[in-house]
Formats: sequence, C-alpha cells, structure tokens
Amino acid sequence: MFKGLIHVYTGNGKGKTTAALGLTIRAAGNGLKCCFIQFIKGKPSGEMFVLKNFPQITFIQTGRKNYDFNPTEEDKTLAEKGLKLAVDLAPRFDLMVLDEINVAVHLKFLKTQDVVSFIKNKPENLELVLTGRHAPAEFIKLADYVTHFELIKHPYYKNIKARKGIDY
Ligand code: ATP
Ligand code: MG
Repeated sequence: MFKGLIHVYTGNGKGKTTAALGLTIRAAGNGLKCCFIQFIKGKPSGEMFVLKNFPQITFIQTGRKNYDFNPTEEDKTLAEKGLKLAVDLAPRFDLMVLDEINVAVHLKFLKTQDVVSFIKNKPENLELVLTGRHAPAEFIKLADYVTHFELIKHPYYKNIKARKGIDY
C-alpha cells in the first residue's frame, strides 16, 4: 500500500459531501476498505442506503437526529463520540471520511487540537478526508489535497428548498 494522504473539501458551494462519496466509491471499487463517518447530521440521506449495503464500506452517522442549528451539549457529546470512533476504527481502514468535521470544529463541538492530534497520529497508510465549510487553517496546513468549493449559484437563493435525492 501507498502512504495515505490528507484531503480537505471546504467552501460554501455544493458538492463537498458528494465528492467525498464519489471518492469512497472509487476506493471501494478498487478494494480499499472505507469508513464514512458523518458528523452533526443524524438524518437519513440517500447515500446511506447504498453505502450500508456495500460490504467494503462502513457508514456511520454520529449527529443528532433533528439537528436544528441550535447547538446543544448533546451535539458536543455526539461529536466527541464520533471522533473517538474515528480513532478506534482508523487502523482497520484504508480510507476514512470525516464528513462535516470542519463544521463540528467551527461550531466548537470538537476541539481543533483533538482533531489535529488525530490527523498527525493517523495510521501511515490511511487516506483521510475532512469535509465541511470553514475548514480550520490547521487542517489546511496539514492536508495534501485542499479543494475549495466556491459558491457561484445555488437554487436556495431562488427559494428552492433542499430536494430529496439531489441534496440529501
Ligand atoms: P452535498 O451534500 O450536496 O454534496 P455539501 O456537502 O457541499 O453538499 P453542505 O455544506 O454539507 O454541502 O450542505 C448540506 C446541504 O445544504 C445540502 O443539501 C446542500 O445541497 C445544501 N447546500 C450546499 N451549499 C449550499 C448553499 N450555498 N446554500 C444553501 N444550501 C446549500
Ligand atoms: Mg456536506
């Protein structure tokens, strides 16, 4: 196996989680064992029904079921649980996606330093993907691939609400 590198997908444009899912599918198709951990969000999203049925992929959500943008202590507890899970599971996988972890740090559900310590101590061969708006500068510094999704247009601004199957 090759040395695992670090990816950051950030910015306000749509496509960060979708890109991480695409990478997961590519990796799994090549026989890599993949772990996709979704922070903050605990509501079903279409991808989970596919990924949960794929033996090569482990899909876990650690967020509150009805996350409502009003941070609570529970959000903190759940995010910390997610990070602990990531630490414990990392040695068993070739690719790990920590979806929305950038937001979890931004909202102070997780300490930047705790995630930095995970990144620095990750297994050598683990490919690690961190997604979400507001990626901390510390993550960008440590990453090998950094992609900023720039918002040019989004139908939200035309009052078109999130559409099942496309946005979740
Ligand atoms: P996706 O999950 O579709 O790949 P994303 O991961 O880039 O999107 P997030 O920041 O995680 O986007 O936002 C999650 C949800 O908000 C998705 O339903 C997405 O379509 C929607 N969204 C993304 N960008 C914007 C935006 N600029 N304004 C409003 N809603 C957005
Ligand atoms: Mg996302």
